[in-house]
Amino acid sequence: MADDNSMPSFRAADLVIELSSAPKPKPDVVDFGSVFTDHMLTIEWSVTEGWQAPLIRPFGNLSLHPACSSLHYGIQVFEGLKVYRGDDNQMRLFRPMLNMDRMANSAKRACLPAFDQSELLECIRKLVETDQDWVPHSDTDSLYIRPTFISTEPSLGVKKPARALLYVILCQAGSYFKNQAKAISLWASPKYTRAWKGGTGDCKMGGNYGCSLFAQYEAADYGCQQVLWLYGEDHQITEAGTMNIFLHWINEDGEEELATPPLDGTILPGVTRQSILELTRKWGEFKVSERYLTMSQLCSALKQQRVKEFFGSGTACMICPIGHVVYEGENLHIPCQDKHSQLTSRIAKEITDIQHGRTPSEWTVLV
Ligand SMILES: *Cc1c(COP(=O)(O)O)cnc(C)c1O
Repeated sequence: MADDNSMPSFRAADLVIELSSAPKPKPDVVDFGSVFTDHMLTIEWSVTEGWQAPLIRPFGNLSLHPACSSLHYGIQVFEGLKVYRGDDNQMRLFRPMLNMDRMANSAKRACLPAFDQSELLECIRKLVETDQDWVPHSDTDSLYIRPTFISTEPSLGVKKPARALLYVILCQAGSYFKNQAKAISLWASPKYTRAWKGGTGDCKMGGNYGCSLFAQYEAADYGCQQVLWLYGEDHQITEAGTMNIFLHWINEDGEEELATPPLDGTILPGVTRQSILELTRKWGEFKVSERYLTMSQLCSALKQQRVKEFFGSGTACMICPIGHVVYEGENLHIPCQDKHSQLTSRIAKEITDIQHGRTPSEWTVLV
């Protein structure tokens, strides 16, 4: 049998477009992830025939065999990125090849077939172009892109899928800041583990998120909005909810430092995380580190007033300040500095200016 990864990828040049005859009204952006656009991209793969031509078609339900192994064994990966409309009316993607590459990595870990990442990006660009009227004329709202890759293997055997479907849907995404300008609260507990060495925490696999919900609701019982995921005996700080995490502080050696945990397999390699690291390293104003951080280090830094800011990062919110951490029965208050001197608002402004084309950057890809 042919090694499926040696088969040629689908190509954007083969794209077939079937337009919807019944475009939907575009409601005001209200909620994340509930209002979808008129079209979707689907690309089928099988081990015998390889990749089929990509298809842009009217948005609609999928038809799946009830035994398909994405439903039974969670053989599924996804991505998340946004398209922004600038004041110049131009639509831009933010570092989308990082998402394409991350999806290819996740797919490999899930035993899903390989594809050419730039061909997928070109298909996504065409999909966004098709539904461009859905990209809000707004500085705060955007259109969210959800590439998804599932096994459609129609059998209960736990095995490498012989059939798969890669599809992309688009939905409205309002700004997180509209109703969540306030700092969030986190429940830090070693009771649940999000990811572990040798696991799949560095992949965007559906199973990682479904199994985090239970802890998320327990956090709510402690009056918190998200879980601060800890790892190991020394309670290493790893991620917050589905965000990477950053600590801006005066470290143990008295140096001003922006720190985030290293990519050791337990951390999702966020595009926002990487961008914050690259931006702040370029500023050259303080030490920028990928290093381990433990709860005891955070607690003593708080006691000694060495913490400047603590925040999460991700495409959904971009940057999300953290105000409180509940840990071992204590409610730890995280200081947030004066609004205008905050590192978070400075980073958020620099990245938003790039996304909306106010600052020219090689990080954006035009649609
Ligand atoms: C998607 C995700 C992030 C953020 O990644 P971005 O590429 O910045 O959106 C962080 N942590 C987890 C667990 C995630 O799933």
